[in-house]
Amino acid sequence: MKDIKEDLFKAQEHISNAIEHINEIEKLKEHPKNIPFPTNSIPRDKLNVAICVGHSRQGDTGAVSCGGINEWKYNKKVAEYLKSDLQEYGISSFIVDSYGGNYGSYASSMKWLAKHLDEQKASIALELHFNAADNPKAEGMEMLYWHTSRIGLSIAEYLLKSCQRFFPLTKNRGTKAIKTGNRGGLMLKTPSQPCCILEPFFGSNWQDWITFADQESTLSQAIALGVKEWSDEHIIL
Ligand SMILES: [Zn+2]
Repeated sequence: MKDIKEDLFKAQEHISNAIEHINEIEKLKEHPKNIPFPTNSIPRDKLNVAICVGHSRQGDTGAVSCGGINEWKYNKKVAEYLKSDLQEYGISSFIVDSYGGNYGSYASSMKWLAKHLDEQKASIALELHFNAADNPKAEGMEMLYWHTSRIGLSIAEYLLKSCQRFFPLTKNRGTKAIKTGNRGGLMLKTPSQPCCILEPFFGSNWQDWITFADQESTLSQAIALGVKEWSDEHIIL
């Protein structure tokens, strides 16, 4: 009898934990809190999203995950899915998976990219990455934006929120304001469009990698929904 009572007690505890988790996930459906008002987003029919595959410079494929997949290869797949997922919402986009510029020069490739985005009439740019660190325990998702870009911040917040909804067990590292000299700084600063660098997980962390490996299409759905919801917040100033 005592055992049954103990088991019942444990079951009760698990149920209340589960309810708490459900509540947490429900809360994610609310609007992101840190967004400056007005959000200043762009209406869906005017959007043309540049889907930039990170490490698209010649000779660069980015970090390699625990499972042996490099950033470029993983994100090239995400990009293909994303183009069609955005299309489902009536949002135009184009993929950039091969950057020009002088071989070996990050600055020169970012200049090339800025010009290319203008020529293609991009309205916002997303650059797809995944994180990596020497410390295998480093984990979680973060979205990077240029520190003075209010639109960049709001895109980053919406993308983070949406990715948290699809991957609720992945640690939320928040949005990160990037300044000159920070990693990713030139990508966020050089183009004239608001930009966001997505780092949805650490490829160098096993738990993260298990969560995201072969989930390119789910990640794409999360990003597409984030862009859609961000855009739906459009406020005419
Ligand atoms: Zn990267």
